Amino acid sequence: MSIAKNLQKIKETLQEGVELVAVSKTKPSSDIEEAYAAGQRVFGENRPQEMKGKAEELPKDIEWHMIGHLQSKKTKYIAPFVSLIHSVDKLSLLQEINKRAAQNERVINVLLQVYISKEESKYGMDESEVVELLSSEEFNALQNIKVVGLMGMATNTDNEATIRNEFKGLKTFFDSLTQNNYSKNVELTILSTGMSGDYHIAMEEGSNMVRIGSSIFGSRG
Ligand SMILES: *Cc1c(COP(=O)(O)O)cnc(C)c1O
Repeated sequence: MSIAKNLQKIKETLQEGVELVAVSKTKPSSDIEEAYAAGQRVFGENRPQEMKGKAEELPKDIEWHMIGHLQSKKTKYIAPFVSLIHSVDKLSLLQEINKRAAQNERVINVLLQVYISKEESKYGMDESEVVELLSSEEFNALQNIKVVGLMGMATNTDNEATIRNEFKGLKTFFDSLTQNNYSKNVELTILSTGMSGDYHIAMEEGSNMVRIGSSIFGSRG
């Protein structure tokens, strides 16, 4: 099936209020153009230089989301234009993003990545680390970033109950955070959970932003 048809099919299954991030990592700009022509404007990438290259050659009204693990030193490549960074997992990275955002005279929106899976390899903070970060003075001092939500990746498994529990737990945590009064650089509205294989479950468990790659663009080599 074509990219446009895949997109159409997925959009038909999205619950109201759920934003679709089309994950175009490793795919050529021509694939993004095809999705763009079909109306898609939000794209997710996981390599800073690749994202920068694509942003330079593609339409300027595309919103670029960094969804992969970000090394501090590569923040500078995306700071001028990135619209959301999903994968922030420590204060030092936030400080670097803040510094680069200030240099570009902007505020960069970010999500904190929370570790919810059973896999060692996945990045993210645990719940107590998130609370500690949001409560810290060093964090409160950052004026050029805004934490607008949380991101999580479930265990890569066929066991639906495991996946559902992980998403459910993150939603509960998200809801508890929104009850607190953190500093003005915190405004939690986005819960980014769900990929091609598990976004139906994620939506049932409160996701309002899904990151879908292979179901739109085909598998990645
Ligand atoms: C690659 C990736 C996705 C998309 O995965 P698909 O299974 O291709 O939909 C979503 N989120 C993150 C963080 C990714 O790295």
